[in-house]
Amino acid sequence: MPLKTPQEYLESIRRDVNLYMFGERISQFWKHPYYKIIEPSINAAKKSYELAQLDQYKHLMTAKSHLTGETINRFTHIHQSVDDLVKKVEMQRLMGQKTSCCFQRCVGFDGANALYSVTWEIDKKHGTNYHERFKQYWGEVQSQDLFVAGSMTDTKGDRSKRPSNQTDPDAYLHIVDSNDDGIVVRGAKIHQTGFLNSHRAIVMPTLAMKPGEENYAVSFGVNTDEKGITMIYGRQASDTRKMEENKLDVGNWKYGGQEIFVIFDNVFIPSEQVFMQGEVEFAGELVNRFAGFHRQSYACKTGVGDVLIGAAALSAQYNGVEEAPHIRDKLVEMVQLNETLFSCSLACSVKGFKRDAGNYEMDMLLANVNKQNVTRFPYEIGRLAEDLAGGIICTMPSQADLDNPKTGPLLAKYLSTCDDVSPKDRYKLLRFMENISMGAASLSYKTESLHGAGSPQAQRIMIARQANLEDKKKLVKEILDIK
Ligand code: SF4
Ligand code: FE
Repeated sequence: MPLKTPQEYLESIRRDVNLYMFGERISQFWKHPYYKIIEPSINAAKKSYELAQLDQYKHLMTAKSHLTGETINRFTHIHQSVDDLVKKVEMQRLMGQKTSCCFQRCVGFDGANALYSVTWEIDKKHGTNYHERFKQYWGEVQSQDLFVAGSMTDTKGDRSKRPSNQTDPDAYLHIVDSNDDGIVVRGAKIHQTGFLNSHRAIVMPTLAMKPGEENYAVSFGVNTDEKGITMIYGRQASDTRKMEENKLDVGNWKYGGQEIFVIFDNVFIPSEQVFMQGEVEFAGELVNRFAGFHRQSYACKTGVGDVLIGAAALSAQYNGVEEAPHIRDKLVEMVQLNETLFSCSLACSVKGFKRDAGNYEMDMLLANVNKQNVTRFPYEIGRLAEDLAGGIICTMPSQADLDNPKTGPLLAKYLSTCDDVSPKDRYKLLRFMENISMGAASLSYKTESLHGAGSPQAQRIMIARQANLEDKKKLVKEILDIK
C-alpha cells in the first residue's frame, strides 16, 4: 500500500536543498540549530501521514485512486465524486483541530485537481498530450505518497504593468529557453507554503495571460531540490522563541506553519513534467480553478477555530466565569461564526459537479463566498478569544521567571485563580492563545485567512462575475408584472 509512515516521510525530506535562513546557507537543515524553528512545521505536515495510519480516520484521510486503483492519502486524490469533495473539507477541519495551524499539504493537492481538468481541456483544443503526462506524473505522487507544494504567487513587480512590460522580466516566472527535451524557467514564487517540507511542487501562472505572453503561460512539476532552486526561509513573529530552552513561551511548541521565498534560476524542466506551455487562453482558467479549490480548502481555519474556541472556553473556566451569561454569549458567537465558515466549505462541496475530464470540482461562487467570509470571521473569533483571555496574554513574564526559585512562587501565587487550576496550566493556555492572536500562528489563522488563496478583492471579482444580477432582476419583475 503506498502510504508512507510518518517516519518514512521524515526521512524522505531529509535531502540537501539550497536553503538560506537568517543570512546563512543551511546544509542538512535537520541537523542545524535552526531546525528547532523548522521542526513544528514538519510536525504539522507529518500529521497528514500519522492520521492516515489510524483506523478511526482512514475514511477521511485515505481514498481509492482512480489512476492506480490503490489506497492513497487523500491529500493526493483527484476527486471522483461529491462525497470526495465533502470528505476533503472534513479532513481539513480534522487536520486543523489536530495541529491548530497551517499543515501545508493542500496547495499542491488543489493545484493537481485544477490541472487535471485544465490539461484535458487544453489537449481537446490543441491536440497536445498534457493530460496523459499529468496523469503519469500524479500517479507517481500517489504511489509514493509524496508531499507536493503548489506555487502560484509571483513577485509581480510594478502592478500597473503586464508581465512582459516589467522592467525586470523575471517579476513573473517565465520560460527563458526551450528545446525538444524541455524548458528552462526563471523567476520567483513567494509565500510558498510548506515548500521545504515538500518533495515536489506544481508551478502555475499567477494570473490570466494574453497573446504575446506565451512564455508566462507555463505550468509544470518540479522536484523541490532541483538544481537552480533557492529557498529563503520566511520569518514569523516570535519564531526565535523556538530556539529557547523554555518551550512554554512558544505557545504551540509542537506545530506550526512554514512559508518560503523560492527563486528559480534557469531551472530545467523535462518535457514530461510540463503541463502548459504557451496556451495563454487557459492560464486564467487554471488560476481560477486552483483558487476555487483552495478557497474550498479553508475549512482548515474552522479546525483551528475549534481549538481557539476550546482555549477561550477553558480560559473562562480557569477564571471561574464560564457560566456567566455574557461569557457564554461570546462563546456562542464564536461557534456561530466558525460553523458559518464550515457551512460554506460544505456547501461549495455539496454543490460540486463533474468536469468533462471526469473529476469533480467545487461550486465556484460558493467557494469564493467561503473564502470571503474567511477573510473576516477568524479576526472576529480571534478578537472574542482575546476578550475572554484578558490583557494578560500580552503582559505575562517569561517561563524562565515562572521557573525561577525567587519569582516562580510569587508568580504562581498571583497567577492562581480557582482552587483546582494549576497556575502553570493557565500560563500554558494563555501563551497558546497569544501564539494564535499575535505570535507565529497569527500568520496562519489571521493574515493567511486574509491573503491566502488570493486577497479579498480577488474573491469579490469572482463573486461579481457569478452574481447573475440580471436573473435576480427578472425575479422581482415577474412578481411585480414589470415588462
Ligand atoms: Fe491547507 Fe489551510 Fe494551510 Fe492552505 S492555509 S495549505 S488550506 S492548511
Ligand atoms: Fe495558504
